[in-house]
Amino acid sequence: MSKYDLAVIGSGPGGYVAAIRAAQWGLKTVVIEKDGFLGGTCLHVGCIPTKVLLHHAEVYDHFKNAAEFGIEVKGIKLDWAAVLARKDKIVKKHSKGIEFLFRKNKVESVRGWGRIAGPGRVAVENGGKVTEMEVKNILLATGSEARSLPGVEIDGKTILTNREILSLPAIPKSLVVVGAGAVGVEFASIYNSFGTEVAVLEMLPRVVPLEDEEVSAELDKAFRKKGIKIHTEAQVQSVKKDAKGATVALKDKAGKSQTLAAEKVLIAVGRKPQTENLGLEKTKARVERGFIHTNAYLETDEPGLYAIGDIVAGLPQLAHAASMEGFIVVGKMAGKPVPEFDRKRVPNATYCEPQIGSVGLTEKQAREAGFPVKTGKFPFAANSKASILGQHEGFIKIVAEEKYGEILGVHVIGPLATEVIAEAVAAIQLEATLDDMMFTIHAHPTVWEALGDAFASVQGLAINA
Ligand SMILES: Cc1cc2nc3c(=O)[nH]c(=O)nc-3n(C[C@H](O)[C@H](O)[C@H](O)COP(=O)(O)OP(=O)(O)OC[C@H]3O[C@@H](n4cnc5c(N)ncnc54)[C@H](O)[C@@H]3O)c2cc1C
Repeated sequence: MSKYDLAVIGSGPGGYVAAIRAAQWGLKTVVIEKDGFLGGTCLHVGCIPTKVLLHHAEVYDHFKNAAEFGIEVKGIKLDWAAVLARKDKIVKKHSKGIEFLFRKNKVESVRGWGRIAGPGRVAVENGGKVTEMEVKNILLATGSEARSLPGVEIDGKTILTNREILSLPAIPKSLVVVGAGAVGVEFASIYNSFGTEVAVLEMLPRVVPLEDEEVSAELDKAFRKKGIKIHTEAQVQSVKKDAKGATVALKDKAGKSQTLAAEKVLIAVGRKPQTENLGLEKTKARVERGFIHTNAYLETDEPGLYAIGDIVAGLPQLAHAASMEGFIVVGKMAGKPVPEFDRKRVPNATYCEPQIGSVGLTEKQAREAGFPVKTGKFPFAANSKASILGQHEGFIKIVAEEKYGEILGVHVIGPLATEVIAEAVAAIQLEATLDDMMFTIHAHPTVWEALGDAFASVQGLAINA
């Protein structure tokens, strides 16, 4: 029987990253992956292919708006097959890249369904054949799948999840997106740019409901300006296929019944953890509605069993969160000093147009947590690089603690928001104060320098607005 220090089940951004770091730190490591390729949801049907399509949409928007930059472009035509081919090429390249990195770091990989077979044993099933291995530690990184709504049957042709909408044979004329979280608004943005008539339905009172309220209001305004229809507090009652596509029946904000017809419907109402059939019942691990409970070092209640990524109860379902959780787990296994995982330091990045980047507490969360709060806000309309880019929408909002000026949260909506947020993540990681950040030098002219003005704005000291 093969023997390992660590068996990782799942090769997404949690599993593959943890495996490489474990090998770098001297642990004999094997990764078990059920699919015929490495990289998980993130690389194959999540982060990467969506961002490829978003980038293509942005390039297309540049051509459509070329006149603003004094460039005359005639006969713009989108070659959808070429767009999809480029997306697939990028995904394949990076999947091969993980295979290379495994070889380089001497991480073994085995194809098959992995499961806990007993204390210190993992079974792998492939094509009816089961092999077992002896392992000191087991790391579950099995990720998640799209959820549906009760009674809504996803057929993959008309009623879709994030998987099928990435490979449609043609751009749909109309699309209803159910759910206005990160996944929903990204696809709404992509297809709106490509000319699809898009409507977004959200059960809660605002789009991107996890973001600061002012960010939601700004995105709502920007989306409506682009012609995306938004229905908040909409309760979807049914989604039925018909000859022309599908019809969505809903109860609107006022309690009135409405129907929306569209060629395609995307269901983007959240992700369910893949924790069935993993042998968890043989362990002391606590599982609640499919999610696994861990402590702040990602240890379950079963000695030697760890969980990271989309399957962990109470943690954000994000690729970079999964990777950091993996670093903490294998660091502890290898006897390295590691910090607890702090969810308040996890940035959110949503790549719709305009982009959103945020970290830390929203204003409401900070007040509810009992902090005396002061805030500041700086609009991109007053940033010279945003003018150069022709992207004036949005702002940066700072949430700070009143007495010492500790930065509690930073919320960016506008150009390059998903990159601009990086400095704020470091500021929160290092427990920086407004004074620290006001004397941090920002290169000029950059979109990022708007952060300098935003930090200063909390004290009423912004220069450019
Ligand atoms: C459309 C979309 C866009 C997204 N965009 C972003 C983004 O821009 N940024 C971001 O941070 N996050 C994004 N996410 C979320 C991100 O994809 C997930 O948070 C991330 O993939 C979780 O990583 P993971 O390692 O936990 O699991 P996954 O990436 O889901 O990987 C799990 C792996 O485990 C394998 N597996 C499962 N069970 C078994 C088993 N029993 N045996 C063997 N193998 C098994 C699966 O085949 C899979 O390869 C997006 C998600 C979606 C759906």
